[in-house]
Amino acid sequence: MVINNFSILFLAALAAATATRLWLAARHVSHIRAHRGQVPAEFAADFSLADHQKAADYSSAKTRFAMIDIALGAVVALAFTFGGGLELLHQVAALWLPQGIAHGLALIGLVVLATTLIDLPFDYYRAFVIEARYGFNKMTPGLFFADAAKNLLLGAVLLLPLAAAILWFIRGVGDYWWVAAWALTVAYGVFVQFIAPTVIAPLFNKFSPMQDTELKERVERLLARCGFKVKGLMVMDGSRRSAHGNAYFTGFGNTKRIVFFDTLLKQLNPAEVEAVLAHELGHFKLRHILKRMAWSAGLSFAFFSLLGFLMRQDAFYSGLGVASPSPAMALLLFMFVIPPLTFLLQPVGAMYSRKHEFEADQYAAQHASASDLISALIKLYRDNASTLTPDPIHSAFYDSHPPAVARIARLQKA
Ligand SMILES: [Zn+2]
Repeated sequence: MVINNFSILFLAALAAATATRLWLAARHVSHIRAHRGQVPAEFAADFSLADHQKAADYSSAKTRFAMIDIALGAVVALAFTFGGGLELLHQVAALWLPQGIAHGLALIGLVVLATTLIDLPFDYYRAFVIEARYGFNKMTPGLFFADAAKNLLLGAVLLLPLAAAILWFIRGVGDYWWVAAWALTVAYGVFVQFIAPTVIAPLFNKFSPMQDTELKERVERLLARCGFKVKGLMVMDGSRRSAHGNAYFTGFGNTKRIVFFDTLLKQLNPAEVEAVLAHELGHFKLRHILKRMAWSAGLSFAFFSLLGFLMRQDAFYSGLGVASPSPAMALLLFMFVIPPLTFLLQPVGAMYSRKHEFEADQYAAQHASASDLISALIKLYRDNASTLTPDPIHSAFYDSHPPAVARIARLQKA
């Protein structure tokens, strides 16, 4: 086995990221436990002690289980690289296929299949033990496995053509292949988002136009007030899988639509639904979605240029336990190396997202009602058993949404 600078950098980053993630999770659990005895004063009127303790227990159970996942993730990354997993799958694919694009695709397919199978028992436990214990899981095992199979097939249909094109660029375009690969990946991402609401989402859920006329009129008045044109107001049968409620915005141009989970419509009254929708419209009107797409395009440009450089370094392969370099192998190694190396970007992204959440809340307070949004948030926190007392450092690191206390305090001032 070869040990070089790439090995040391990867090992150090993996160790640092894993230790930090475990430390954050342990802090989070002990902070939640320490505040389990009492509902925070701001929520005393709306949360019973039993609600608060359910949220505390549910959040700790999820975080404790996540710690096992974090540790296993590190072991898997080591097994695929230094442990020879990637090299072994390379040889398996080489039994049928000579070196080339088809072999590269087979190798990528085998690795994705292996990592999916490793994750599957964890996903199963999460749904049928943790979510079920708190009354959130609505899936049957049959639906769970059907989803897993569909996801795998969908992944193959969507990603293999992109991977094939990238491998082809690497062979045919020369040193700057990565610019073409980056441009194609960004364009393909936009295309997938365009077809997601009409082609992909219906594979998993039923969507029906909103029926409730009172709510529909309310929502249409809000859309008109905000100068927003949208084709579909849809209700999705989220209750098939989970009792958690949500609402989201999807597609663009002709496929733009607003989707409400049926569970959300059951939890909230029409005024609260309007306030939640106003928040979502805020994300759109303030161009948060566009900004996020621009950010990720910029970031992937940096990643592709780094990949373009690494692919030409023999030490990159040998230092990470691979004896058979190939473009597909470089893509796969990159997939294992990048998460620990970019782990410290996580809090920056989360902070950026929380800033957008505050802005969208502000927009909702201007175009709907701040007090309706507050009561919607309280209901959603209570019904989803989200903790009111996250560890501040854990929250700063990961949370895409500001803690409930902070959001509500700002809305009260609005
Ligand atoms: Zn939001």
